[in-house]
Amino acid sequence: MMFTVAIDGPAAAGKGTISKAVAAHFGFDHLDTGLLYRAVGARVLDGADATEAALALSPEDLEASNLRSAEVAQMASQVAVISEVRAALVTFQREFARRPGGAVLDGRDIGTVICPAADLKFFVTARPEIRARRRYDELREKGEETSLDTVLADVKARDDRDMNRADAPLKPATDAVLIDTSDLSIEDAVDKVARLIRDQLPPSV
Ligand code: C5P
Repeated sequence: MMFTVAIDGPAAAGKGTISKAVAAHFGFDHLDTGLLYRAVGARVLDGADATEAALALSPEDLEASNLRSAEVAQMASQVAVISEVRAALVTFQREFARRPGGAVLDGRDIGTVICPAADLKFFVTARPEIRARRRYDELREKGEETSLDTVLADVKARDDRDMNRADAPLKPATDAVLIDTSDLSIEDAVDKVARLIRDQLPPSV
């Protein structure tokens, strides 16, 4: 069975948590496509050329331990503006989406560009202040020294760059289901998404 779920949205809206939970629930494979851009961003911070790094990317690069830092996130959104970088990452994502047994991909352009024919599309969002607070808590938990104001400014800068770039800007696909997690618990958000997936799956699954 092939079944593709596309989950897009801005930083720290909850799409990663939701994607992981529903993938585990249905036994689908999950790809956090942000990691691809983060891995390229990390290579660029080490002095590599962005397009060459994207062309040479290997699955092991996604395991690097520093990919979740704020510095890498900002560089990821800068390399994500480059069309050649995006183009280099398309085939891997599309092949992942066709994995037998089902796939969940989360990112910014999955429903609009990478998998426009996905079986189900979601756009997960939340107010910037709430997303910044979640990201701040996450970074503090990992021991990163930062302030809530800095994180909010970073989130807004990244939103702005992601929404206004020419190639594959962040926006909901016209047929995406909108999920606003500002006032929703993670359990309720996961439940809502899982229920909609369940309704679309063939009866035998
Ligand atoms: O989702 P995450 O915060 O890890 O993504 C890091 C950056 O990678 C985003 O800010 C965005 O610029 C870029 N990205 C993208 N397209 C995707 C996934 C991530 O442009 N499908």
